[in-house]
Amino acid sequence: MSLLQLENLSVTFGSFRAVDNISYKVEEGEVLGIVGESGSGKSVSSLSIMGLIDFPGKVSADQLTFDGQDLQAMPEKQRRKLTGSDIAMIFQDPMTSLNPCFTVGYQIIEALKTHQGGSKKELKSRAIELLTQVGIPAPESRLDNYPHQLSGGMSQRVMIAMSIACDPRLLIADEPTTALDVTIQAQIIDLLIELQRKKQMGLVLITHDLALVAEVAHRVIVMYAGQIVESGPASEVFSTPRHPYTQALLASLPESASGKARLEALPGVVPGQYDRPLGCLLSPRCPYATDHCRKVEPANQGDLDRQVKCHTPLDREGRPAA
Ligand code: SF4
Ligand code: MG
Repeated sequence: MSLLQLENLSVTFGSFRAVDNISYKVEEGEVLGIVGESGSGKSVSSLSIMGLIDFPGKVSADQLTFDGQDLQAMPEKQRRKLTGSDIAMIFQDPMTSLNPCFTVGYQIIEALKTHQGGSKKELKSRAIELLTQVGIPAPESRLDNYPHQLSGGMSQRVMIAMSIACDPRLLIADEPTTALDVTIQAQIIDLLIELQRKKQMGLVLITHDLALVAEVAHRVIVMYAGQIVESGPASEVFSTPRHPYTQALLASLPESASGKARLEALPGVVPGQYDRPLGCLLSPRCPYATDHCRKVEPANQGDLDRQVKCHTPLDREGRPAA
C-alpha cells in the first residue's frame, strides 16, 4: 500500500481546472519531485491533499488515500488532525507562515501541544530538541525570539522544526527555499533530505529547480497547465524524457548560469483560465505539434510508474514516434 495515492484528482474554481485529473503515488521513504512552471498546478494539488482548498474551489478524485485511509470520506475533524500530524507541509515563505505576534518557543510548543501534549517542562525540552535537530545554534535562547528577529534561513529552519514536531510520515515542501539566498537554499535542502532519510518520511518536493530534483528525488512528476505530462523514476525521466515539455526543460538546464533553470525552456507561457487551447495544452508551444495535436487532447499513456501524456512520445533518441 502506498503512503499517499491520488487517482484522477481535479481542483476546479468555477469553470477553471487548476488541477486536471492527476494521478500519482508516494511511497514511504520516497522523495517525489514535482516540477513545472508557475501556474502549472503544483501548489494547488498539494493544498488539496492538505484539505486547504477553500470555497469556491472544488476538489474531486476517484481516489485520495493516505496509508489506505480515504481522506475524502473522513470527517473534517479527523482529517484536520491527520494533516497536522501524519502529513505536514512547509510553505515557500516562512515569514508569512510564522505568526509575528508570538515567540518561536510559543509557536513550537503550541504545535506540540495540539498533537502530543505533555507537561510544560517536557514540551519546552522537546522544542529545544527540535531546534537542535534543524541546526539552530543556542536553541534555548531562540525560544524567546519573535519571527522578525530571525533571518530568512533561520525562520525556515523553525518552520521545518514545527513541521516535523509531530513526526509526520509525509512531508510536503512547496518551494521551501525560493525566498532564501542561494547559499542558504542548499543548507535547507540538505537539512530536509537528512531529516527525510533519518525518519524515512515520504517527501514531496515542489520546486522550479530541475537540477535539485535530479539530485535528490527518487521519482519525478512534470506538470503543465494543471496536468501531469510525464512521471517516472527520476533517473529514467532525466536520461530519456518521453514528453516534449520535459525534453525542453532539460535542454534549458546547462544554459542557466546559476544552475537553477527557471523553466522558460519554450517560448510562451502556461495557458491560463481564458486561453486554454483545444487539443494538447502544450500544442501552441510544442515544436512537434501537428494538426491532430491541436484538435485532440492526448490520453495518458502508461501506468503510475511511468506516465506520458503525448500523442507521439519521444523515443530513446529524443525524436517523436512516427
Ligand atoms: Fe507536442 Fe503533440 Fe505531444 Fe502535445 S501531443 S506534447 S503538441 S507532440
Ligand atoms: Mg506555487
